[in-house]
Amino acid sequence: MNKELLFFEPVFKTLVWGGNRMRDVYGYDIPSENTGECWAISAHPNGDCVCISQPFKGMTLSRIWNTYPEVFGNFGGDRFPLLLKVIDAASDLSIQVHPDDHYARIHENGSLGKTECWYILECDENAKLVIGHNARSKEELISMIDEGRFSELIREVPIKKGDFIQIDPGTVHAIKGGVMLLETQENSDVTYRLYDYDRLFEGKKRELHLAQSKEVITIPAKENAVVSTSDDRPFEVLIECDHYRVLKINVKERATLEDNASLRLVSCVEGEGSINGIPLKKGQHFIVPKDYGELLFRGRMTLISSVPVAQR
Ligand code: ZN
Repeated sequence: MNKELLFFEPVFKTLVWGGNRMRDVYGYDIPSENTGECWAISAHPNGDCVCISQPFKGMTLSRIWNTYPEVFGNFGGDRFPLLLKVIDAASDLSIQVHPDDHYARIHENGSLGKTECWYILECDENAKLVIGHNARSKEELISMIDEGRFSELIREVPIKKGDFIQIDPGTVHAIKGGVMLLETQENSDVTYRLYDYDRLFEGKKRELHLAQSKEVITIPAKENAVVSTSDDRPFEVLIECDHYRVLKINVKERATLEDNASLRLVSCVEGEGSINGIPLKKGQHFIVPKDYGELLFRGRMTLISSVPVAQR
């Protein structure tokens, strides 16, 4: 049985809206001044992370998952369940929506849908996100989209560092410029783009997916829930949904977590210290294998941890 924490080489994505904040904040060796995403823990074919710690050094996460299922408590399912990203938006992302698992299975070649959640790592003053929409009926939604009344359609909400937001499938959403966040999501890359502010990139508009968007957008939109989180409570459950449980851990000197999960992902988002004697600092992410036992954190740091929920 493997009893070691698994650390990975992140996969970076250069994107038109990306920035360079990940270098300043986390010291990452980013590949460009437009680095939008860091896939920190991923077994997705579009960015399969390579393990940098023994005994799996040099193996991709998907290969470890497929070859040594016992490391993950024989969690089940045909793919690693979660995908963890750091996202740095220097300018606004397109407005988008994700399908649920059922829709994606039928229309996206067996892919998973996408439930995701955001923890705000850094943001400019007066930063905002797009979450939800104002259409009261399907007819109204369709006419607002067809007539291009997007400023009327979308809802913008103010956010601050440390806020947490759950984005269910069917939720219209967008990250706006000036925001850096940690995203925990289902292991999926299916996104329907609803509106891109009519921007041109290299002379062209990016593809929209209006038909799919109209089909999957939840109507009416749920009241959005931007949750302020605590910097003092040692443990705070941020969300429990069908796909994951997310916990915020504030270590002031030491904290212990009795771990019975098959599989746990942990990100150090602030500060530094150690985990069971291994040095740890902000910007590092790791997987805790099954039967690792107690986690002892020392130092002064903030961590976000997610545990996937097995699907039937
Ligand atoms: Zn999304």
